[in-house]
Amino acid sequence: MAGAAGGTGGTAPADAPAPARVGLPRVRFAPSPTGFLHVGSARAALYNWLFARHTGGTFVLRIEDTDTERNREEWVDGILSSLSWLGMEPDEGPYRQSERTEAYRQAVDALWEAGHLYACDCSREEIDARTKGNATPGYDGFCRDLGLERRGRALRFRVPDEGVTVVHDLIRGDVTFAHEAIEDFVVVKSSGAPLFVLANVVDDIAMDITHVIRGEDLLPSTPKGLLLWSALEGPETALPAFAHLPLLVNERRQKLSKRRDDVAVESYRERGYLAPALRNYLALLGWSDPHGREILTVEEMVGSFELSEVNHAPAFFDLKKLEWMNKEYLRAMPVDDFVEASRPWLAPDRVPWPPERFEEGMFRTMAPLVQERVAVLSEVPAMVDFLFLEEPLMDESSWASVAADEGARAVLEAALDTYSTCEWSAEALHRATQAMADSLDRKLNKAQAPIRVAVTGRRVGPPLFQSLEVLGREAVLERLRAARDRLGGTTG
Ligand code: GLU
Repeated sequence: MAGAAGGTGGTAPADAPAPARVGLPRVRFAPSPTGFLHVGSARAALYNWLFARHTGGTFVLRIEDTDTERNREEWVDGILSSLSWLGMEPDEGPYRQSERTEAYRQAVDALWEAGHLYACDCSREEIDARTKGNATPGYDGFCRDLGLERRGRALRFRVPDEGVTVVHDLIRGDVTFAHEAIEDFVVVKSSGAPLFVLANVVDDIAMDITHVIRGEDLLPSTPKGLLLWSALEGPETALPAFAHLPLLVNERRQKLSKRRDDVAVESYRERGYLAPALRNYLALLGWSDPHGREILTVEEMVGSFELSEVNHAPAFFDLKKLEWMNKEYLRAMPVDDFVEASRPWLAPDRVPWPPERFEEGMFRTMAPLVQERVAVLSEVPAMVDFLFLEEPLMDESSWASVAADEGARAVLEAALDTYSTCEWSAEALHRATQAMADSLDRKLNKAQAPIRVAVTGRRVGPPLFQSLEVLGREAVLERLRAARDRLGGTTG
């Protein structure tokens, strides 16, 4: 950062930054509703939110919906719902840019009056034809001095020919942009619609934003924003601080992309991730706790979050780690909470059993065992479906392992025999199965395998003896018989 005064952005000269805004921080999350809430945007929202909570500041939500061709109302609802699911309610807003067109119009008038804008009627094709092969890409200033009428034309900002704009970034330090490399950018389309950079800055000024915390992809547009800011507010104005957050990359170090990667918060929600786990995971994408904790309560995050601790290197969005974290959160839940959290995954349209066969008591009894084993809530039905189906859903590869096991039939016969009379509790079943395995000269787990497949339809699942106990003697015997008959042949 330049200057002990803590200047946080400014146009040239670089060593004389404008004063930083003072008072309690006001930050904003400003999504454009062009799709589901992206995990990168959710991370930006979270850092804004944590910063506001940590500093006692205000978290503003602003929907940047000026691009009528790409915005859809359902995306606005989706974004709001994902934010609220993640526990990031705004202190102010949501403001809608589509309702603030008058503010943009006034700003454009002021910029025009002060000579910062000029009208341009070059077509994209004309610009491309003229600038092909130019050392500096972008618009060539063709209409700059033509004095064209404003009406019906796009308006461009007259970027000074010389000097630099320095972005004082709390994460990256000073980033200097030479004006000669910044084109005269469009602020209003010929239709009169304001462009992102204009509406964004007009609102940051109007909403008294002190810190702009957002993705690194927006860094290139920041000098344009600063030029507009000074043009609107005068060169002495206090500017916001900037913090451009690191990119999120996949395991191949590629920027996370909508097409390639699963990037929607909504899709993690749909797959049974817990909001606190996802939030905890997102917090660590670029920031780490000074005490080295990985699992943090939201209060702990708020307590130790500092923008200055955010890293600028790309952050790896590691699905395995997210899954691990979710599992930790699931295991740490009180059982009752786990049962409640599982409930949406037990809805009739999500389960293979007829709804009337579901028994709450059975599910509750199994819940602590299931809780230990699933990584995401969407795995819950498969752990308990054997309880509520008439017949288990047979996983054919699990069945193949039974069919290939020469001693399987003998195990099933012995189990049928033992289980028809033994005491019916997990402990007694365990003891009886151990004795049975000993007499067949098998290891306990080798004896359990065919029984488990016969009863639950799968090689893996919750602990066998509890499963048998909950399912009940009659159903267990029936399934053992069916499996034995399916194996065919005689006792080996
Ligand atoms: N609306 C912009 C976007 O979604 C973000 C603007 C900002 O945070 O400054 O990319």
